[in-house]
Amino acid sequence: MNNQLIIDSLTHILPKEFSKLRKSFVQKDKTFESLFSDPKSKIASYVDLVESMQKSSIHKSIVAGFGWNDLGLAKLSNDYILESANKSNGKILPLCSVNPLWGKQAISEIRRCYELGAKGIGELHPDTQGFLDGNDYSSLAEFMELSVSLKMPVVIHCSEPVGHIYEGKGSIKLQVIVNLVSKYPNNIFILSHFGGGLPFYSLMPEIKIALRNVYFDSAAFPYLYHPNVFKVSSIAVGYEKILFASDFPIVSQNHALKKFLRVNLTDVEKKSILKSNADNIYSWP
Ligand SMILES: [Zn+2]
Repeated sequence: MNNQLIIDSLTHILPKEFSKLRKSFVQKDKTFESLFSDPKSKIASYVDLVESMQKSSIHKSIVAGFGWNDLGLAKLSNDYILESANKSNGKILPLCSVNPLWGKQAISEIRRCYELGAKGIGELHPDTQGFLDGNDYSSLAEFMELSVSLKMPVVIHCSEPVGHIYEGKGSIKLQVIVNLVSKYPNNIFILSHFGGGLPFYSLMPEIKIALRNVYFDSAAFPYLYHPNVFKVSSIAVGYEKILFASDFPIVSQNHALKKFLRVNLTDVEKKSILKSNADNIYSWP
C-alpha cells in the first residue's frame, strides 16, 4: 500500500462566519441547528483541512456542504468551498449544496456553482430539509435531471434505523431512500455513513437492482461501526461501491485512515476504496 494516492470522499469546511455567528445561524437554519447547536461541535477551516491532510498523507479531499435550509448560508458555504478548491492545487474537489425544494433557486445555485467548478451536490439532509416527505418525488424531477446533465452525483445523509442517537442522525427510512433511487435510476447517488446500513440489504435481489447507480461512503465510520463494516459491505454490495471517507472534522482523517488500513481487505480492494471508486464517480462518463 506504499505510495498509494488517497482520497477522502467526505469532509466539511466552513468559513469563519459560521463559528463567529453560530448562535444566530442556528436560529436561521434547521440543519445547522441539528448539527451545530452544541458550541463544542467542531467547525474546520480550509487551513485546518490542509494541515490534517498533510499529517495523514491524504492527497485529495472531497469537500461538501450541508443540507441547508437558508439560501444565504448555502451561498456563503458554497462560495467558501469553491474558493478553497481554487487555491488548493487540486487537493480539494468541491461539492455544492442546496435544498431541492427551493425549485428554481436551487437550480440556479447549482448552475452557478457548477460554472465555478463544483463537481457534485451535497451533502443533503432529508430529515431537516424535508425533500423526501410525502410519497411522490416528482417535484424533484428538474433537480435530478440537472444533476444527470451536469454529471454531478448527489450525496445524501442516511441514518441507521437502530443504534445510538447523535447530533444530526435523522430518521429517514431506508425504504424512502430506496424509493428515491428507484424513481431516479439515471442519477448517481452517494449515500453517506454506509447508507444507514443499506449495503447489507443489497443481498436482497430487488434492492441490488435498485442500487445499480448507488455508492456508499464511510463518513464517520469509527463513530458508528466496527471497521469490519468495510469487509461486510464489500461482500454484500461490492468493494467497487464503497468510498473511504472520514467526515472530517467530526472524525480525524488520520484516525479513520489508520482504522481502515488495518481491515483485512486485499490491496486491490483497498486501492479501489481509497481512490479508484471516487475517481470513477467523479469522472462520470
Ligand atoms: Zn452526514
